[in-house]
Amino acid sequence: MLCCWRNKRRNCRKLTVDDVVTALKHSGISNANQEALWLMSYAIGVGTAEIFSRKEFPPDESAKVEAVISRRISGEPLQYITGVADFYGRDFRVGKGVLIPRHDTETLIDGVKECFCRDGAFRFLDWGTGSGCLGVTVLLEFPRSFGVLHDVSNEALRYARENVRFFGVEERTETSGIVGEFDAIISNPPYIPSCEIAGLMRDVRDFEPLLALDGGNDGMRFYREIVNLAGVVLRQGGYLILEAGNMIQHDALKSCRGFSFEGEIFDGGNFPRCVILRKEGRA
Ligand code: GLN
Repeated sequence: MLCCWRNKRRNCRKLTVDDVVTALKHSGISNANQEALWLMSYAIGVGTAEIFSRKEFPPDESAKVEAVISRRISGEPLQYITGVADFYGRDFRVGKGVLIPRHDTETLIDGVKECFCRDGAFRFLDWGTGSGCLGVTVLLEFPRSFGVLHDVSNEALRYARENVRFFGVEERTETSGIVGEFDAIISNPPYIPSCEIAGLMRDVRDFEPLLALDGGNDGMRFYREIVNLAGVVLRQGGYLILEAGNMIQHDALKSCRGFSFEGEIFDGGNFPRCVILRKEGRA
């Protein structure tokens, strides 16, 4: 079928939605029906309902679709192609060089909601902000909060700043370094053990930034870094709200010295993805 797809390309014939779905399915994309609609809608610049209603696409539109579908078939993630990723019901700008927000990470926003009320005026650090999805969402969900969005990657920071601007939270955001004391630190750090990187899905391994994934030998390197940092910049009684990658990491975080375990939030796969800790010695 993929061969059929190639022939159509060569002959510059008119494509149908079915051609695209088949090509995506044959390249191993499980959500082929939905992705075909999204990608075609992006390529042609019309809504998904219109894509559905058309029998076939003229050669000029088919050429645009081909270009986009070829990228997807080569493994490039859908969100890098369309340039947006949904997080907590909002579209964040993303692209090569920044981790694509995951729905599991939304549990950290629910975690922040467990710790602060909506009109709370707290100052937080989003360590390893990437696209800024966590930090910006906290700023939007808590209109009196102030966020320091930190990342070692300049490419990631470029996206974070773009999202900060897009969502209009510049006045409550700082992106130029970790300064001052915080009421909370939130983070989805790189936590995949180095030896597991090679076994990741192709879309992730070959396209997403290693810097945002690789957590060192045991995947715990950055948890240790964050806990040490929290010892210095998190106020007593402040919250540490972290994403856990697996049960070993989860259990290690839960029993972290100098912090009390306050709660956890389960993701859609029933894994306690978000761990909430509180720095001891309440002020
Ligand atoms: N959840 C991501 C994945 O499974 C990993 C992100 C991270 O290392 N924090 O691809």
